[in-house]
Amino acid sequence: MANSEYEYVKREFEFDRRLPPSNWIVVRIDGCHFHRFSKIHAFEKPNDENALRLMNACATAMLEKFPDIVFAYGVSDEYRYGIRHPLIFVFREETEFYHRRESTFSKILSLCVSYFTSVYVMKWKDFFPNKELKEPPCFDARAVCYPNLKTIRDYLAWRQVDCHINNQYNTCFWMLVKSGKSEQAAQLALKVGTFAKDKNELLAQQFQINYDDEPAMFRKGSSVYREKVETTVKIDDYGTPIKRPRLKVTVAHVDIIGPEFWENHQHILRE
Ligand code: ATP
Ligand code: ATP
Ligand code: MG
Ligand code: MG
Ligand code: MG
Ligand code: MG
Repeated sequence: MANSEYEYVKREFEFDRRLPPSNWIVVRIDGCHFHRFSKIHAFEKPNDENALRLMNACATAMLEKFPDIVFAYGVSDEYRYGIRHPLIFVFREETEFYHRRESTFSKILSLCVSYFTSVYVMKWKDFFPNKELKEPPCFDARAVCYPNLKTIRDYLAWRQVDCHINNQYNTCFWMLVKSGKSEQAAQLALKVGTFAKDKNELLAQQFQINYDDEPAMFRKGSSVYREKVETTVKIDDYGTPIKRPRLKVTVAHVDIIGPEFWENHQHILRE
């Protein structure tokens, strides 16, 4: 850097505070004004499958681009509770880009959100070949540090519990609206019975829907991580395929609250 008389503006004003030790970073990305964005692009309610698949493709691209991201979790959210549409990226401790400086922290955040956004725009036509992108989407991003494996696991469990509650509510709400109720009347109808069982009963009795038969992507959200897969690397002279284990980015719609998933995927989150 040239050492001019103006250099003091960096030296004296750019702070580099140290962040607490032993941390995992969670970066949360949320679509700005997606209530409106989903309306002007006529997303299906409550869950537009193509829009969710586009989000998943962006998350996959993120894991392919940034080796330090170990896990991502995304869900479709619900505006009435004002709960976010989190796409959560978990960075490994001692990550390459993270040297515990606050400026590096904001670098991670800005890299994530700008890369995610440009992939969203680039891939739009793959998921909506007949729909024009009418305005440039934008996303906000926030980062939080978590001290250990338990808090990361609890954080993800919290998001998946929310996904379930919101999706169950939304499924009822939109069934009522599509059957002719006004949005206000549907809201009111759902106010009285707040127990999960009531909502499942409502779906079964009024609409002959078994909630458990709804697509797993809507009920469980989307988890993105690297999975070991046997890949053919070449065919030898005798025509026999030579296989090697490779890590491939995978999207799954599974329970991440209980211990089973984590016991079967111990390589993802290591203390
Ligand atoms: P903010 O800018 O504060 O985040 P927002 O309008 O994006 O405002 P959210 O709480 O993030 O508010 O809610 C997201 C909105 O986008 C919800 O209204 C939700 O229904 C809609 N939405 C997002 N993804 C989908 C989808 N795949 N299908 C249908 N609707 C969706
Ligand atoms: P980093 O990721 O660390 O920022 P970088 O390669 O982007 O790495 P910078 O210090 O930001 O490094 O330098 C930007 C580079 O891009 C320079 O090499 C500069 O010559 C080139 N560049 C940027 N804008 C232009 C432009 N409009 N015309 C020609 N070259 C450009
Ligand atoms: Mg927001
Ligand atoms: Mg939003
Ligand atoms: Mg949201
Ligand atoms: Mg640069």
